[in-house]
Amino acid sequence: MHTIFLRNSVVCVRQTNCSNVGCGVRQFRITIRQKAQLPNLSPYDVNLILRENEYIQTFSEDDSIVRSYESNQLSSNRPCEDSRTEATFLHKSGFICGVFDGHAGPACSQVISKRLLRYVGAGVLDRRVLKEVMSKDYNSQSFLKCHNDKADFVSEIKTIYENSFREYVQTISRVKKENVANEITNAFMRLDDDLSKEALNHSNMRTMSVAMSGAVAVVAHIDHLDLHVASTGDCGAVLGIQCPETGQWQAKKLNTEHNADNLKEVQRILEEHPNEEHDTAIRNERLLGQLAPLRALGDFRYKWSNEIMDKYVVPTFGEHSVPPHYYTPPYLTAQPEVQHHILRPNDKFLVIASDGLWDFLTPSQVISLVGEHLNSKKVLEPMKLPTGEVTLLEVSKLLAERKAGRARKPLDQNSATHLIRNALGGTDYGIEHSKIAYYLSLPQDVVRLYRDDITITVIYFNTEYITKLNAET
Ligand code: MG
Repeated sequence: MHTIFLRNSVVCVRQTNCSNVGCGVRQFRITIRQKAQLPNLSPYDVNLILRENEYIQTFSEDDSIVRSYESNQLSSNRPCEDSRTEATFLHKSGFICGVFDGHAGPACSQVISKRLLRYVGAGVLDRRVLKEVMSKDYNSQSFLKCHNDKADFVSEIKTIYENSFREYVQTISRVKKENVANEITNAFMRLDDDLSKEALNHSNMRTMSVAMSGAVAVVAHIDHLDLHVASTGDCGAVLGIQCPETGQWQAKKLNTEHNADNLKEVQRILEEHPNEEHDTAIRNERLLGQLAPLRALGDFRYKWSNEIMDKYVVPTFGEHSVPPHYYTPPYLTAQPEVQHHILRPNDKFLVIASDGLWDFLTPSQVISLVGEHLNSKKVLEPMKLPTGEVTLLEVSKLLAERKAGRARKPLDQNSATHLIRNALGGTDYGIEHSKIAYYLSLPQDVVRLYRDDITITVIYFNTEYITKLNAET
């Protein structure tokens, strides 16, 4: 979880189970009197709240590497500072999705959730196809079909964004395509650069509010057997792997968080600044004593030069908007770390989520919960034997799996909702309704102290297709 300190304006709040220590912020606890006043939510009320933002998409094509995905979001901040996007490519195979966790307001998170996948999409597209698409329909350079896209930009900034994107596409269409990891990195960096230019060249409150807020991001790109996860900041991505012999679930993390718990990351920042800044570049486990994630998009008040700050930021936002000990910017980068994983038949699903989920559950717990949820869903479908020769032992295992699933049938069809329910209400003895009801009925002025915005997307892989592709390679 990360919240920005803005001197004289916003008080930093931290969750009681936050792993960061030493920031000296008073941790609030709800009083008994306040607790007695909390409304009593019924199981029906709880379901309504938990399921409000559910989304499920299924792909029926046999040659789709992603079989389906399930997503959900529970806000704590009003408005919610998390965003999410999922899309398939229009001119090539593959799937791409992202979770974006904003801070200092939702502006940056909302904007990059609508723009970053397009930048990545254009970058990973074959250059010949890219040029072909551009020559045919210059105004429709989306390259993507977004599945859960309900909002659009106001026309005033839409034109600015379209122009930036067009320039980006023109630039990359002139150079040779690099490998996917590099193209994703370039897309992150270019969009971040565009956010800066847009704020400085078209200085208005909209572009400036995007630049003054920030967001961390995790993006997953899947094409054939190649899974790339790019992460800037402290969202998380974990792969769910099932052991074929035992049926047990194993978690494989596909990112490292960029925060003060990551010593390599702390070392990187200290090395980028003079020794005299050793005690101020990172203070109280925060960048310049303010920002918890050590990488992010936006947040240009940790990136712009002192001259730009004096010319554009101070006149509008005041002296206090310049962080203390701001001597040798930039202190912050949008550069993602990209991990590449080749999918195997045992890889069943990928979970990407904002830190609001990881505050409550470990990667192993998340994978076990989704794995059990997947097993339980199988019992609702007609039993299908694997193709080819099947042994009695394999049939027996399948039946045992279905029986176990029936015993643990979850309340929620959507695995992202199942995770949120377990995050808020899980106990050693199962889900406790009163615990979830308590978390969901906390008043708006204190809820952020107990839980962060939670955004989750669970992507299920097409095992048959992965097995086929593996056999071909
Ligand atoms: Mg968060």
